[in-house]
Amino acid sequence: MSSQVFHTTVTKPKASAKDGKGIFMTVEKDGKVYTNVIDAITGAAVGSLGWGDTDIQEAMAEAAKHHTYSFPGCIVSTAAEELSKFYIDQCPKGAFKSALWTCSGSESNENALKIVRQYQLERGRPEKLKIISREASYHGFTLGAMSIGGGPRGVPFEDIMIDQKNVCLKMPMFYPYRRMKDGETLEQYAQRLLDSLEQLIIENDPNTVSMVIVESMSGSSIGTPVPPKNYLKGIRDICNKYDLIFMVDEVMCGTGRINDGKLCCWENFLAPEDAPDIQSVGKTLGSGYVTIAGVLVGPKIYNAFAEGSGVIVGAQTYHSHDFNCRVALAVQQKVLKQNLTANVFKMGNLMGDKLQKALVDSKIVGDVRGLGGFWTLELVKDKSTKEIFQPSLKIGSRFANAALEHKVNLMGLTGGNTTGETWDIAVLGPSFIITEKDVELLCERIVETVKDFTKALE
Ligand code: PLP
Repeated sequence: MSSQVFHTTVTKPKASAKDGKGIFMTVEKDGKVYTNVIDAITGAAVGSLGWGDTDIQEAMAEAAKHHTYSFPGCIVSTAAEELSKFYIDQCPKGAFKSALWTCSGSESNENALKIVRQYQLERGRPEKLKIISREASYHGFTLGAMSIGGGPRGVPFEDIMIDQKNVCLKMPMFYPYRRMKDGETLEQYAQRLLDSLEQLIIENDPNTVSMVIVESMSGSSIGTPVPPKNYLKGIRDICNKYDLIFMVDEVMCGTGRINDGKLCCWENFLAPEDAPDIQSVGKTLGSGYVTIAGVLVGPKIYNAFAEGSGVIVGAQTYHSHDFNCRVALAVQQKVLKQNLTANVFKMGNLMGDKLQKALVDSKIVGDVRGLGGFWTLELVKDKSTKEIFQPSLKIGSRFANAALEHKVNLMGLTGGNTTGETWDIAVLGPSFIITEKDVELLCERIVETVKDFTKALE
């Protein structure tokens, strides 16, 4: 089928999603229709509820009836206020004071960068402008978000990004599978990364550094390695020591995907008093039913604005959009009522455990890593040496095609950094309603995919 839609695969359309119910979907690819496909990635880890949820369909109809549009620069929708209260009340007490609702994760990060810049100006510290993010990270496709990203996706746009030498600095990624040294513990490895972050700050004059941003747990860049407790805590402490803003990007890993009964992923690793100063969220917030994401602002930044100008510079037409906020609130209320974040945590860990055991002897699955509802298989040419496949083979996306033949939708990709290092991963992020029976079937299908794919490579 040739596509009229100008999407990311404009020259060679991949597959079209035709319909969905619960965790299953129907996909059409090259004229072939695949029914009862288990959606193990829900777009890009977007789904909290499954597809075709009738409660949400009703909430959408209701939201349409009450729908008003107001420009957020003048009048704020009450639904936006309600969503903010509902979300912030579920985060650790005192962590956040305010929220801005946007239409995408990229836009959330873009706005967060500007909010932090304005925060430094509000408190009379204009010289603090450098932003530290991680090598190979992904924070979205708008120019600001790409400037703090570090993977190959940004390479074509390097010349028009925010200054990569003097403003957007990169620290090493957290990638234990490839970067941990023999004999090193996970905590020692994390400490080595923290030392190099501190060194980077010192070399670049701490008085000119504004913020550090990381994903609480990486997703589409290197695929879900679980950090030890000292890692995010160490970044928090370094930020405190040098008067830097600590931001987490939880667009993919947050809003209940990786926390037993709670919303924020960082709560797995940090005490409430170590909360980030600002956080972006997205994806599972609206579960793919509406285009909504957000920025949560903590007291440090909030108070600087409250005691300063009182206004965030820049209102966008569809910020805090009434319809989006009403539907997202309905999604979040249902997730809470049915305790679905606890369900996906349990089911996700069961899935990960089963895959680790079932694939232990696989020749091409070098690592199975993750937590809760977010897992990754890393595919390698040689398990003992961790040798990668040639990037031109596009093993990641070929593995996703092979999975579709076994009725599984997952995200397969060849990741990389800007120095030419690459790796192949297959990422799993099912919706929160997944059951034990679904997990059984999903794991069986993935194991069959791995077997067939290994054979096809021989
Ligand atoms: N940040 C992270 C960590 C992401 O994974 C993504 C998208 O995958 C984004 C930001 C960008 O979000 P969006 O695609 O909604 O703009």
